[in-house]
Amino acid sequence: MHQIKISNILIDVIRKDIKNMRLAVYPPGGRVRISVPLHINDETARLFAISKLSWIKNHRQKIKEQKRAIDRYFISRETHYFFGQPYLLDVVEHNAVPEVVLKNKTYISLFVRPNTTTEKRQSIMNEWYRSELKKKIPSIIEKYEKQIGVKVNNWRIKHMKTRWGSCNIKDKRIWINLELAKKPIVCLEYVILHELLHLIERYHNRNFKAHIEKYMPQWKSHKEELDRLPIYYRK
Ligand SMILES: [Zn+2]
Repeated sequence: MHQIKISNILIDVIRKDIKNMRLAVYPPGGRVRISVPLHINDETARLFAISKLSWIKNHRQKIKEQKRAIDRYFISRETHYFFGQPYLLDVVEHNAVPEVVLKNKTYISLFVRPNTTTEKRQSIMNEWYRSELKKKIPSIIEKYEKQIGVKVNNWRIKHMKTRWGSCNIKDKRIWINLELAKKPIVCLEYVILHELLHLIERYHNRNFKAHIEKYMPQWKSHKEELDRLPIYYRK
């Protein structure tokens, strides 16, 4: 990914066949992207971004605040998502190993020892999300490996602040964001397909898009779900 750095903010630079430069700040981590017409060089893009620095900082701050507003306390009756479906959390104290159990497609029962802290509850939930995600990933990877004709050496689930997935082309390794356990499963499929496609096309160019289109005609709506509420500045 081509990037420029302005006052400690990394900005992804995307060149495409457009007329005007466009800045975007994306949740969940405040990733910044600048789309520029093909004939615009990095220096011009940089100057544009610098002129909009306070706008960028402002919106990154807003995203941070939005995130804080939806922070969870892991108490009963809170809404938590599991593969795109909302569930009510039901915290049950018991004197045994912590456990997470789905109930009636309505509740996520979180069994914890008495006096378990918020942080600990969160990490129990995250471990559960991780194990559920782990069950889904191999068959999806296998499916698209076969279709595309590639093979990854390994994959990992990571907590990433700014990306849903990433691909190390050289090591043929893909990373998948733990947060995807909360999104519809099609979003997980989209991210896996996207990262696997980087093994045959490094850049997000026309070729890349044509491949995605071929294997997943609905990809745009899945991407939109993941990029929900992007904030745009158009010039
Ligand atoms: Zn990509």
